[in-house]
Amino acid sequence: MSANWLTHLFNLFFPHLCLACGKNSLQGTAITCFSCNRKLPSTGMHLMQENRFTDRFFGRIYLQAGAAMYHFKDGNQVQHLIHQLKYEGKSRVGLKLGADYGKLLIQSTFFRDIDVIIPVPLHPVKERKRGYNQSDYIAMGLSKTMQKPWLKKGLIRTKYGVSQTQKSRIERYENVLQSFKVGQIDALKGKHILLVDDVLTTGATLEACATKILEVPDTKISMVTIAIAGTN
Ligand SMILES: [Zn+2]
Repeated sequence: MSANWLTHLFNLFFPHLCLACGKNSLQGTAITCFSCNRKLPSTGMHLMQENRFTDRFFGRIYLQAGAAMYHFKDGNQVQHLIHQLKYEGKSRVGLKLGADYGKLLIQSTFFRDIDVIIPVPLHPVKERKRGYNQSDYIAMGLSKTMQKPWLKKGLIRTKYGVSQTQKSRIERYENVLQSFKVGQIDALKGKHILLVDDVLTTGATLEACATKILEVPDTKISMVTIAIAGTN
C-alpha cells in the first residue's frame, strides 16, 4: 500500500476544495481552482506610485508606497478567501497570498528598499481565541518571497474590545491610536517598514499603527494589504 494510494483515498473522503468557490477540487498547495484564480481582481497598484490605496492616506500619513493586491467586493472570490483566513482557521490562505504578493512586490521599484515587515497585531486575547493572527501569516508569506525579515512583536496591541459607538470621532481616533505601541524600538530605528494587514477599509487601524512607528527616529513607512474595500 503506497503513500500515494493513501493520499488518494484521503482526498476521496476529505477532498481538498477551492477556498473561494468551495466546489472544485485542488492540486497540491493551491488555495483556488483554475476558474476562481482567473476571476481574482488584481489591482496592479504596486506599479503605481499614487493609487486608490495611497489616496486614502493622503494628508494623514506620509507613505513611501502603498498597495492592495485585490479588489474586495461583497460575494467575490477575494471576500471568500478573506473569510476563510479570518474565521475558518485557514491560516495557509494568508501564507499563500502573502507569498504570491511578495513575488510581485519585489519586482516593483517602490517596494525594493523595504528593511522589515510588520503585521498589524491582534490583542493577545483575541489572537488566542482565533488561534493565530491572520496578518502574521500574510507577513510570513511576504517575508519568504521578498527575502526580508518580519517581526512578530514590532507592534503590540494593548487594548481589547472597547466599544467605540458612544464616542465622538476624535475620541475614537484617540482610542485606536492608544491601542498600539511599538514593541521593539531598536529593531525599527532607521528602517523602512512595510506594515501589513488583511483588508484596507477606512484605514484607521493602519493609520494608528503607522503613527506609532513614525514616532521612532528615522523610520519610513509603506503599507500593503491583500484587499482593498470601498470604491473611493
Ligand atoms: Zn474555485
